Amino acid sequence: MTHIPGIHHITAISGPAQANVDYYVGSLGQKLVKKTVNFDDPGTHHLYYGNPTGAPGTILTFFPFANAGPGRAGAGMASAFAYAVPPALLDHLSKVQEAAGLPQAPRELRFGAEVLGLRDPDGLAVELIADDAAPDAHGFHSVTLWERDPEPTIRLLTEAFGYDHVGQETSGRFDRHRLVAKGAERGRVLDVVRSHTPVAGTPGRGTIHHVAFRARSTDEQAEWIDRMRSFGHRTTPVIDRQYFNAIYFREPGGVLFEIATDPPGFAVDEPVETLGTALKLPPQYEKIRDRIEAVLPDLRVPT
Ligand code: ZN
Repeated sequence: MTHIPGIHHITAISGPAQANVDYYVGSLGQKLVKKTVNFDDPGTHHLYYGNPTGAPGTILTFFPFANAGPGRAGAGMASAFAYAVPPALLDHLSKVQEAAGLPQAPRELRFGAEVLGLRDPDGLAVELIADDAAPDAHGFHSVTLWERDPEPTIRLLTEAFGYDHVGQETSGRFDRHRLVAKGAERGRVLDVVRSHTPVAGTPGRGTIHHVAFRARSTDEQAEWIDRMRSFGHRTTPVIDRQYFNAIYFREPGGVLFEIATDPPGFAVDEPVETLGTALKLPPQYEKIRDRIEAVLPDLRVPT
């Protein structure tokens, strides 16, 4: 039976675009792999960061809104994401964070691995998890879902998505369940946490908007539409996102899930070597490029 191999991308909301680029490219060393617009609001950017080839499992995307109000993670939201990083890089990235004048939490151990908790310029929780198997600091380790009741979400992940529930750990005010996708792909870990003290989440700047999982092909994605229906979840129709096809649904706890296809990928409209350097527009917006360019803020990408 088809299983989900892991995370395809994670999408979050940020404040002004320049501070976002400065942090993810300049501080964390991610590559800007696509500079495009929000297809539902073409007067704002949609920025994609990833590894040099823009591989699924490395893609973090932002909708930057210059005037977005601050948000706060809470139950029913994805509350953090984590990169897997070579252990030797943790000290370096901790110093970079300090030099940027941004907060970091004391290091902790989670399921035996060292975790460095950072905040990006909008307060979004970015975690770095030491992983001997990580070739570089570009790929996801995991994403954390904050749930009022973890059980229905865990059931969906194990029974429909094919994840294995491998452990539970309590730390501070959180019970944390760990689920792992079958296989050996990047971003195959999903943590589901429940807080002893309920906190209502507020969407906004510095929060995760949705979590996208991988379908290796459009055929696999079609299977997921049927499988989700058999689990009582009606997905959206397939939506063309230019770099992948997407379907969306809300998991039982309220987090927006997407299942996105690996093809065609980010090299569909520019060469891998120059990914992210030019503003790319989907065909429906190419004819109003001048107007779009006139309202988008200029972006300087750190080298
Ligand atoms: Zn998405």
